Amino acid sequence: MEFRTVIGLEVHTQVLTETKMFCGCSAAASDVPNTHVCAVCLGMPGVLPTVNRAAVEKTVMTGLALDCTIPRFNRFDRKNYMYPDQMKGYQISQYELPMAVSGFLDVEVEGETTRVGITRVHLEEDTARLVHRSGPDGDYSLVDVNRSGVPLMEIVSDPDITSPQQARLYLVALRRILRYIGASSGNMEEGALRCDANISQRSEDGLIVGPKVEIKNMNSFRSVERALDYEIERQRAALRNGETLVQETRGWVETQGITVSQRTKEFADDYRYLPEPDLPPVEFDEAWIGMISTSMAELPVARRDRFVADFGLSFHDADVLTDDVIVADYYEQAIASSGGHYREVATWVSGELFALARNRGGFEYVTVTPEHLSEIVTMVASGEINALTGKSVLLDTAESGTAPRQIVMDQGLTQVSDASIVDDVVREIVAANPKAVEDYRSGKQAVVGFLIGQAMKQMRGRGNPDVVRQALLRTLDNT
Ligand SMILES: [Zn+2]
Repeated sequence: MEFRTVIGLEVHTQVLTETKMFCGCSAAASDVPNTHVCAVCLGMPGVLPTVNRAAVEKTVMTGLALDCTIPRFNRFDRKNYMYPDQMKGYQISQYELPMAVSGFLDVEVEGETTRVGITRVHLEEDTARLVHRSGPDGDYSLVDVNRSGVPLMEIVSDPDITSPQQARLYLVALRRILRYIGASSGNMEEGALRCDANISQRSEDGLIVGPKVEIKNMNSFRSVERALDYEIERQRAALRNGETLVQETRGWVETQGITVSQRTKEFADDYRYLPEPDLPPVEFDEAWIGMISTSMAELPVARRDRFVADFGLSFHDADVLTDDVIVADYYEQAIASSGGHYREVATWVSGELFALARNRGGFEYVTVTPEHLSEIVTMVASGEINALTGKSVLLDTAESGTAPRQIVMDQGLTQVSDASIVDDVVREIVAANPKAVEDYRSGKQAVVGFLIGQAMKQMRGRGNPDVVRQALLRTLDNT
């Protein structure tokens, strides 16, 4: 029997705000537990929450970026449950009336686009963090309330995803958008983005043949893909063997590469949702939504297409440069003063700067300013310095912060294109390497590269490679 896989993703992502969702405490992470707390986020009786305006704006903006409808009214609800990570005994969330509904996100897998529906985007508050320890008197848990009340956005997809790879690329595309519009850092390793997946099997004709299984504990995009791969095989093998699959929640165990049953959902959770009595319903007017829409940054796909159309970049180069909003911004600043060398700047950014970024642990640690990169590219393009010198000047600038032009002047790195100077050097090299010349005569073309290298070394890398090559061939053929 053939099966089709159906996957829906629930993403929880921390909204980038200064303060928490319903109080004035800092939303920043802290190494010192229970320092970003007040009566409201500690759940003291008699206190009243107030809604964080920035969190609402960023959630609406996310909805707009995902082509959602923004209903005129939305409402906060109480989700009641008793657990030590919940100070109040309930979480303020949104249930019946979320902030954004019915959108979509296009996901590209190997050139093919699939439209994944977005069911809803809503706003809620994060819970406290529990730390489990063991001591001489047994196991115990510590509660850190710093995270409690931090704004959290939940983005729920329709069950339109059909493969683990597509699930990963959905997350990549979603995170890119969140970063572009400044709604979230989307950093999964730091817990700023968490993802649960619902996965089930259908028969070829679309009939449901397996129950919906929820997968949790996936800590990276890669582990989402691996966990779903594993789960597909587990579910299909069970169905083929005639075993009964149960609707349950399973946890991904990264070290073993398996999912294990956490709890069985025999009954739907009863959270006894009720409208939050301490907060009025939220009402948006059209003009305000329009304002949010116009203040939204250009989205990744639009920016990529503009890079192709306006700067003559290949689709691949534009895609690489617009993957991270920091890189895209950097590129646009660099080309502003590059005298139209759009493609050359693109090559330098995706080559030399990416290498530098890899060594330093991220593009944000690259210290070369866009203006300095542009200066190097311009000097190379005009023949003032050769590409090799350009690369060493770039590293020098990265270390010292000195302007590239200054480095070139101070160290006398201007490219040597003067034929008489180059000829002298080449003659010297040829005279000093009789064996290589003999090899060349007997047809070994490879020695040409070696002799060019020797000449360049003699000129401290400043020779114009074309002039050196021509001079060398001329000398070899006339000796
Ligand atoms: Zn607080």
